[in-house]
Amino acid sequence: MNKYAVIFTVAALLLAGCDKLSPPPSHSQAWVAEGKTMGTFYRVTLASPPPDALVGLQEQINQVLNQDNHELSTYLQDSVLSRFNQYNGAEPQPISSAMADLVSTALRIGAKTGGAMDITVGPLVNLWGFGPDKQPVSMPTQSQIDAARARVGLGHLRLSEDVNGQWLQKDLPDLYVDLSTLGEGYATDHLAALMERRGFTRYLVSVGGAVISRGLSPQDKPWRVAIQKPTDREVDAQAIVDLQGHGISTSGSYRNYYELQGKRLSHIIDPATGRPIDHKLVSATVIATTAMEADGWDTGLMVLGTEKAKALAQQQGLAVYLITKTDRGFETWASPQFKPFIIEGLDDPREKH
Ligand code: FAD
Repeated sequence: MNKYAVIFTVAALLLAGCDKLSPPPSHSQAWVAEGKTMGTFYRVTLASPPPDALVGLQEQINQVLNQDNHELSTYLQDSVLSRFNQYNGAEPQPISSAMADLVSTALRIGAKTGGAMDITVGPLVNLWGFGPDKQPVSMPTQSQIDAARARVGLGHLRLSEDVNGQWLQKDLPDLYVDLSTLGEGYATDHLAALMERRGFTRYLVSVGGAVISRGLSPQDKPWRVAIQKPTDREVDAQAIVDLQGHGISTSGSYRNYYELQGKRLSHIIDPATGRPIDHKLVSATVIATTAMEADGWDTGLMVLGTEKAKALAQQQGLAVYLITKTDRGFETWASPQFKPFIIEGLDDPREKH
C-alpha cells in the first residue's frame, strides 16, 4: 500500500523488509537508520553523532516501534487494540498511559472536528477495504454502509483512570477502534523521545507522513522538510518548511486509494456519510507541538473539506497548510500560524508581504 510520506532533501532508499544502517558518520555526515513499520516506513537521521554514542541505538529504535505496533495495530490479532476490539463486553479494559494519552487526544480532536475525525470509524474503514480486510469487489450497498455506521460514534468510547491505572470502555459490543490516523505521529513522538533520552540534540525522525526535527542538519542548517505536491506521479515539493522543533503530519487523498467500478475511493472516510471523501481538498498538513497532535488534526481537516477546514484552523489557531485541486491546478492556503515555518514555497506567502 503506497504510504503518503513527507519527502526529505535526501530520498529514502529502503531495502524491503529489513532495516538499513548507514556507516558510522565522519564529522559532517549524517547517520541514518530506516526500515518498514506499521505498513509504512520509518527513518531516523542524526547529524554528526559521536560514533561511540550509537551503540545499541538500532535495537532501541526497533523496540520502540515494536512496542507501539503491539499496542495500536489492527493488523496484529494479539495487539492491545485488537484484543479490545475483539472483546465484546462492557467492562473497562486496561491500557497503557501512553495509549490513554493517544485516545484522549483523539477524543478531544474528534469532538473539535464535530466527529469528522472519529477513531471508532473502523467498521467503515474495513467495509471500504482500507483496513486489514480485503478490498470489496463491488461497491458496498447502502444497507451495508448503514449497518457499519450504526457501529460508529465517539460517544460509545470512554476513557477512565483510577489508582490501578487507565481504562478503555465501550458501550457497543462490536465497536471497532482504528487508531491508524494517529499511529504514525504517536510512533514518531516516541522515536524523538528516544533520541532525547540518548542525548542527541540534532535529529530528524519520521514514521510515514509524520516528522519531528530538532537542532540543525549535518550541513549546520535548519532541517528542510518538504510538503509533497499532491500527485501520485512525481515526488516534487509544493513547499519546504523548517519545523523549528515541532512535529508535522500530512494527510492526503491522492496516494492511498483504489479504483472500483470507475470511481476513485480514498482511504479517508466521512463518518457522516459512511463513504470515502470525494471533495477537492487533496492534502492537509498540520504543524503542532507533537507529531501525534498534528497527525490527529490532518485527517479531520481532510474530511471537512477546504472551506470548513480553513474555518476550523482559524477558530482553533492551528498551523495548517491546505492544497485544493481546482480547474486552474492546485491552490494552496496557509493559516497565519503556518506561515512562519515556510522557508520556500512556490507561493511563499511571506514573499507576498
Ligand atoms: P491518515 O490520513 O493519517 O489516516 C487515515 C487512516 O485513518 C485511514 O487509513 C483509516 O485507517 C483511518 N481513517 C479514515 N477515515 C478516518 C476518520 N474520518 N477518522 C479517523 N480515522 C480515519 N497498514 C498495512 O497495510 N499493513 C500493516 O501491517 C499496518 N500496520 C499498522 C500498525 C499500526 C500500529 C498502525 C497505526 C497502522 C498500521 N497500518 C498498516 C495502517 C497504515 O499505517 C495506515 O494506513 C497509515 O498509518 C495511515 O496513515 P496516512 O498518513 O496514510 O493516513
